[in-house]
Amino acid sequence: MRILVVEDERKVASFIRRGLEEERYIVESAADGEEGLVLALENHFDAIVLDVMLPKMDGYSVLRELRAAGNSVPVLMLTARGSMEDRVQGLDLGADDYLAKPFHFEELAARLRSILRRSTPEKSTKLHVGDLVLDLVTHFAYREGKEIELTTKEYALLEYLMRNRDRILSRSMIMQHVWKHNFDPESNIIDVYVKRLRQKIERPEAPPLIQSIRGVGYRMRETSGPDDEVADA
Ligand code: CA
Repeated sequence: MRILVVEDERKVASFIRRGLEEERYIVESAADGEEGLVLALENHFDAIVLDVMLPKMDGYSVLRELRAAGNSVPVLMLTARGSMEDRVQGLDLGADDYLAKPFHFEELAARLRSILRRSTPEKSTKLHVGDLVLDLVTHFAYREGKEIELTTKEYALLEYLMRNRDRILSRSMIMQHVWKHNFDPESNIIDVYVKRLRQKIERPEAPPLIQSIRGVGYRMRETSGPDDEVADA
């Protein structure tokens, strides 16, 4: 799940980012309203944490522009303590929830889970490939009913592979989506992560779920047919 955090106070922004990354969200941040709006309009996010008092463009204006553009991404607004008007205005503009500053991280995480759950239809909160299940809300993976613990990047990689099941994903697509940098052909980081992921999710008695496509990248498949150009390196 990708979250955009729009917050100009550096300390607060990095506190939120660290907390969310520990909970295995992929986090992007913006330090002013204009940058936040551009990022929100140009990328897909599963939710936005939006401060009200921001340089260049305040949180209400960002929210108003987003909704005017037909973007219905769930928004959690960060408001000043005690300002009921702030909250009402935010909700009127289409915020999904608000949180008064200062707050405990646990509170923010709980509100975020709640708006994510509301915005995600019940049947799509889990991804399935064979007997592998990935819970998009709790970020746990399960196979044969057993819980599999994943690091942040392992989770992001697995989610990307599972969302694109049966599609060949090049190393450069994976690099841009999961690591958000351009692909360095010298780097073997993707292969290292795929190997780790395989050790966690593959079962020796079952056909491999993550297939290596020689010279290209990887594909997630439930079963491999005889005509697959698969090299399980
Ligand atoms: Ca602020």
